[in-house]
Amino acid sequence: MIKVLKFGGASIKNSKRIENVFSIIDKYKGQKIIIVFSAIANITNLLEDLVELYVNREAGVKNKLLEIKAIHFGILDNLFNKNDKVYEKINNIFDEIDLILDAKPHKIFSFNYDQIVSKGELLSSIILSDYLNLKKINNSLLDSRDFIKTDSKFQNAKIDWLLTKKKIKEKITNFPIVTQGFVGSDMSNNPTTLGREGSDFTAAIIANSLDVDEVIIWKDVNGVLNADPRYFDNPLLLDNISFSEAIELAFYGAKVIHPKTIQPLQQKNIPLSVRSFLNYENTGTIINSSEPKDIIPLYIVKENQVLISISDNNLSFIVEKHLSWIFSVLSKHDVSLNLMQNSAVSFSICVDNIKHKIPSLIEELSNKFTVFYNEKVELFTIRHYNSLSIERVIKNKQILLQQKSRNTVQFIVA
Ligand code: ASP
Repeated sequence: MIKVLKFGGASIKNSKRIENVFSIIDKYKGQKIIIVFSAIANITNLLEDLVELYVNREAGVKNKLLEIKAIHFGILDNLFNKNDKVYEKINNIFDEIDLILDAKPHKIFSFNYDQIVSKGELLSSIILSDYLNLKKINNSLLDSRDFIKTDSKFQNAKIDWLLTKKKIKEKITNFPIVTQGFVGSDMSNNPTTLGREGSDFTAAIIANSLDVDEVIIWKDVNGVLNADPRYFDNPLLLDNISFSEAIELAFYGAKVIHPKTIQPLQQKNIPLSVRSFLNYENTGTIINSSEPKDIIPLYIVKENQVLISISDNNLSFIVEKHLSWIFSVLSKHDVSLNLMQNSAVSFSICVDNIKHKIPSLIEELSNKFTVFYNEKVELFTIRHYNSLSIERVIKNKQILLQQKSRNTVQFIVA
């Protein structure tokens, strides 16, 4: 029985939380486990700020680094003795960051990003590995750059599955293992990252490669809820959802599941549990191949959307020739569609409002068509809807567009 346990940033945000993570891992003592860690809470954001400052050659770079250092050394001071080896290891990583910051930035922004932001997971995994050793859970720390092999699409690297599987099988032989989520390396061994929130995906890649028996993702929520608590009162905890439903939920924007995580697990029929690191006795939500007994409405909200309506300058019909051009422009600007709808004389699309993509997209579309757009709209999706659930969503809201299929209804709300 091999299990992969994945802990996100919130679960290790301070020394108390790290002690709590130890109590969870201690329950798996003697079992074959692989533990995947994200960076400590908010560190990835701070490292992103650091990259911006560095690349733009702005003052404040060193202060930002000091801020990041203070968080890590604050945690060390609470968990270790001053002369423990871990201080030297953490100092070495910060020296590596210093060396990067002293050199001229690489011309590719994403290359700099992956060099620096990947350090967040290295720092957290060193601290956790040494802390678990101190507490007599003797583990091996493996560097994920040695086995998560990717292309060189920095910041959003694609996995080379064949090579990665081979390396994982070679490297992961004894247990427990501690390693980093989110980070890999390309064919020239440059660090790469898998996209924000990518640590869940790392857990799934390892699980698929080793055919493990279970993956558990430890979160600050009790599991997968049927509605986003920021928008809906009294959301219900789902005991069980199927792999296919989880993929749909992630696609429509449910934040608790990383979109790429489910497929590698579904392929090998490996169950995924989403559990709370605070109430760790609870079983949370299990995602597997079985369909739940009761189908209830599931509500998902995607924020910060733009609704773009495209029509012909002479109000003539929008035909295939036009659609084909519109799609080529979307693909050129690397913009994905969250919803589309066409009528005789207009074509409407709803997309994420990405700062550096949408203005140039609209500009290019405007060269051939009349384009109207609404910013700051939200996309509400209800899976397994009924009239009550629709009422719950649209009450007192201005609906700009709606679309219904057998299982799913979506509303764009101003
Ligand atoms: N640390 C990375 C992030 O914050 C990856 C992860 O946590 O999954 O996006």
